[in-house]
Amino acid sequence: MRPVILSSVVDRNLCIGCGLCAALCPQNILTMQWNRYGEYNPTEASPCTTECGLCTKVCPFTDSGENEDTIGERLYGKIPGIRHLPETGYYLASYVGYSEKHRPTSASGGIATWLLEALLAEGIVDHVICVAPTGDPERLFSFRVFDIPEDVRTGAGSAYYPVEMSGVIRHVLAHSGRYAITGLPCFVKAVRLAQKKNPKLRERIVFTVGLVCGQMKSRHFTEYVASIAGAGGKVMGVRYRGKSPDRSASNFYYSFLAENGEEKQIFWNEGISEAWTNRWFTPNACNYCDDVFAECADVTCMDAWLPEYSRDSRGANLVLVRSSDMREVIEGGQGINLKPVPIEKLVQSQAGVVAIKRRQLWHRLCRDREKGLKPLKKRVKPEKSKNPLLCKEVALKEQMQRISKECWITCEAEKDCFRQVMHPHLVRLQRSLIISRIIVLPLRIIRKAIPGKRDE
Ligand SMILES: Cc1cc2nc3c(=O)[nH]c(=O)nc-3n(C[C@H](O)[C@H](O)[C@H](O)COP(=O)(O)OP(=O)(O)OC[C@H]3O[C@@H](n4cnc5c(N)ncnc54)[C@H](O)[C@@H]3O)c2cc1C
Ligand code: SF4
Ligand code: SF4
Repeated sequence: MRPVILSSVVDRNLCIGCGLCAALCPQNILTMQWNRYGEYNPTEASPCTTECGLCTKVCPFTDSGENEDTIGERLYGKIPGIRHLPETGYYLASYVGYSEKHRPTSASGGIATWLLEALLAEGIVDHVICVAPTGDPERLFSFRVFDIPEDVRTGAGSAYYPVEMSGVIRHVLAHSGRYAITGLPCFVKAVRLAQKKNPKLRERIVFTVGLVCGQMKSRHFTEYVASIAGAGGKVMGVRYRGKSPDRSASNFYYSFLAENGEEKQIFWNEGISEAWTNRWFTPNACNYCDDVFAECADVTCMDAWLPEYSRDSRGANLVLVRSSDMREVIEGGQGINLKPVPIEKLVQSQAGVVAIKRRQLWHRLCRDREKGLKPLKKRVKPEKSKNPLLCKEVALKEQMQRISKECWITCEAEKDCFRQVMHPHLVRLQRSLIISRIIVLPLRIIRKAIPGKRDE
């Protein structure tokens, strides 16, 4: 038999490539491979003979009967002092801050790396699993297991590049010890679903460190940005969050190591933002994600995208804590500068992502229903937006997302050809956004003045 995960998730273009189905398969018949779009998918090495269905029960994109609300409730709901917001899930405390030692090489304030190092150094865990560069151009980043605090720092920075967990989860299953693991919201959810099914994972993975996530990108995204940066040929290495003292934290740069040994840099507003915000090379699964704040993680780190912090190029974190043990580690932390901040500031810092993953998701689910597709069961209900310009923006971005993936292949990774195809779509979107700003802004002001009106 063909493994059920392939027909129920992969064929429906809903796989984010976490690798948990492959790691948990008792027959070991699934392997994670690149698909033609530069995303990871499970593939079958041999037919499924037992049809146990474990693969679908650990997948974050099937209806396993559990969602982030029920998992959060199970893990954190009974902790004294815990509170809940629909946007963030459960929270015990929230902070703003940084680690002076770590932030030069980290994505933002370096708290994630500081924390992982501290967990190892203080003997709270025996192993840390995080993402680090590989030096292999076919697989620039991967999840790795580290046992020495200083080694964890090799993984500092964000990897906007597909990574999958099948190898490290198999490692945890085979080697005892206490592990801390980093992950995007969907990956942490998959780990939690797997822990429910597997006692070894439950016992051994003792801390989860989540990252706020707006979207993932395919491997082709890195190739495209490298090409506009002038790093042609194979990309041998990339750093995504370079900091420049004369620019704001949000105008970071990507730095590529080209095949000829040259290093090329490109800043966010020199072409990265166009591909990022228009959702070029974004996996389809991300269109159906309603978790912004990694609601199943013991602690979640994010960029402090607030005007009072983002001007400082060195970067700062906002941090949301859900477990009491994690709060103890963080509040007793040496060498960090952290102070409490209201939870509303965290929601405010991610306002754009919340809009996409919640309000726009209502609308996307509704569009699926209109197309005759069965809408995925999410925590938000399908509902058509009453704002025609928002409908148009969603449709145009979805179109660009789809076209970008095909077009990079048909253009044979040639950037001028790719940009020519994308150009008319960009123009249409820009026109629509200008009209939207002219019409919608005054309407929003009027709506805000009328109590009880929902902002679309
Ligand atoms: C795809 C992606 C999208 C993101 N979107 C947002 C967003 O919309 N808003 C926002 O505020 N923040 C977002 N982040 C998180 C942000 O980029 C930082 O990771 C976060 O602010 C922590 O910063 P830091 O300086 O504490 O982390 P660092 O000290 O740099 O440590 C980051 C840790 O995360 C691990 N890591 C890096 N990439 C991955 C990955 N792909 N999967 C699992 N672990 C990884 C590293 O190994 C390292 O241990 C995103 C991150 C990723 C990878
Ligand atoms: S999202 Fe993860 S668990 Fe689901 S099919 Fe893809 S790799 Fe497997
Ligand atoms: S947007 Fe959601 S589905 Fe996509 S990578 Fe981030 S957490 Fe996973």
